[in-house]
Amino acid sequence: MPDGQARGGGQGSLAGMSSVRSGSQSSWGVGGLPRPGRIEYRLMRESTVKEFRRGRLGRTDVCDAQPELLRVAKNLGRETETECPICEHEQLVHVTFAFGPGLPPGGLPLASLRELGRKAGGGSADVACYVVEVCTGCAWNHLLSVFAPGANDG
Ligand SMILES: [Zn+2]
Repeated sequence: MPDGQARGGGQGSLAGMSSVRSGSQSSWGVGGLPRPGRIEYRLMRESTVKEFRRGRLGRTDVCDAQPELLRVAKNLGRETETECPICEHEQLVHVTFAFGPGLPPGGLPLASLRELGRKAGGGSADVACYVVEVCTGCAWNHLLSVFAPGANDG
C-alpha cells in the first residue's frame, strides 16, 4: 500500500476524508489529532494555489472534490466573501466535519458547532473538527484548519 499514507489511510478515522484535498501529499499525517487549540493549513493552501497558477498542478489535480463533499458544501456550507482562487468565479463555502468516537468514520458534517454537542452526546473531548474550503462551481477543495472544539467556546 504505497499510497496509504498519502491519502490519509494511515489515520484510521480520517480515511473517509480522503476526498478532501489537503495538499500535495501526506498532510493528513501531521501530528494526528490536535490537542488544544487549532492548526492552520492556510499556508499549505496558498502554496497549492501558487503551484496551480504556475502550471505545476492542473485543474483536475486541485478541483477534485467528491460528489458527497460538494453535496455537503451545498447543504451545510457557510458562505464566505472569498472568491474561489481557481475558477475566480464562485464564492467559496466552508464546511466543518467532526471526527471522533461515536461519529461516522467519514466524519460528521456540521451546520454549526452547537450541533456537535447534541450529536457527539456531550463527550466531545476527543473530537476534532476539520474546516474545509470548497468551491461548488469548480470542485476546488482544501483543508483550512483543524481544531479541538473543546478548546474554545466556538
Ligand atoms: Zn472554483
